[in-house]
Amino acid sequence: MNNSKLTVVMYHYVRDLKNSRYPNIKGLQIELFREQVQFLKKHYNFVTVEQVLDAYHNDKAKDLPDHPVLLTFDDAYKDHFDYVFPYLEHEKIKGAFYAPVKAVTENTVLDVNKIHFILASTPDEKLPQLVNELKLQLDNYRKDWNLQSFDYYFDKLAVANRFDPKEVIFVKRLLQVELDERLRKIITDDIFQKVVGMDEGMFSCELYMSMDQIKCMVDNGMHFGSHGYDHYWLNSLSKEKQEFEIKKSIEFIKEVGGDVNNWTICYPYSAHDDKTIEVLKENGCKLGMTTIVDTADLSNKEGDVIFKLPRLDTNDLPKDANAPVNKWY
Ligand SMILES: [Zn+2]
Repeated sequence: MNNSKLTVVMYHYVRDLKNSRYPNIKGLQIELFREQVQFLKKHYNFVTVEQVLDAYHNDKAKDLPDHPVLLTFDDAYKDHFDYVFPYLEHEKIKGAFYAPVKAVTENTVLDVNKIHFILASTPDEKLPQLVNELKLQLDNYRKDWNLQSFDYYFDKLAVANRFDPKEVIFVKRLLQVELDERLRKIITDDIFQKVVGMDEGMFSCELYMSMDQIKCMVDNGMHFGSHGYDHYWLNSLSKEKQEFEIKKSIEFIKEVGGDVNNWTICYPYSAHDDKTIEVLKENGCKLGMTTIVDTADLSNKEGDVIFKLPRLDTNDLPKDANAPVNKWY
């Protein structure tokens, strides 16, 4: 038996990319999602969050099926209601979904999503223009915000990786991490308006599930956990601010009909610290998902492993029903 080794798979956008308004968004085409589910069905056994909690907290790992796998979906995209939910229903699989509370309840759009759609609306040949727009923005705010020169930021941040050219990395890192949070927001909002050109409230309604859709999924056995309130890097917040994020999450879970004594969290950007885990334990949270790329060992009870569960990205596993298993099996 190999049932204490748990595979958790992480998904973000799952959509009909080819026929969508933003075919360049970095997402998973629905047919490939279905292929991957069929691949997993052949070699693994789907489990629920509740089974995982039971296995870990009540020492019932032996009750788990061989090669257990749990599917998780971040950011509460409407994609998950439109394409994922019906297919999971069809296959009798219960997934775990993680909602950024404010985006869903107050019709805002996460800055990280604004950046995705700014980039998805900018073809490669227009990337220099986008970088130039950022240069103008930096010039505009340099005095009031005590900014460095454009070259300083570009040299520091514009480093290509295996997924993206250097201009894309520059935009992401400048607007996601480098600048002061308030200025990041001002510039991101301005460029979102210029490039995507849609009202934020309307865009939010199009991008995320509604509360009714979430309740419908909970009624049908899907698990909804917290993805924070404001999608912050939790480890950058004081304990009080982390408590606020957590309390808001519990209100949300209560409202959609979840179990507030056995709830779970997926840390935005995987970021958490010892304070986070303290607050979570004080508030009935039983499990935390990260983006560490690995499989989980449920028999290891040392050092809060259940609050640091690793996950594989969908791209780490085959998207072909007939593919052989890979090194993660
Ligand atoms: Zn997220």
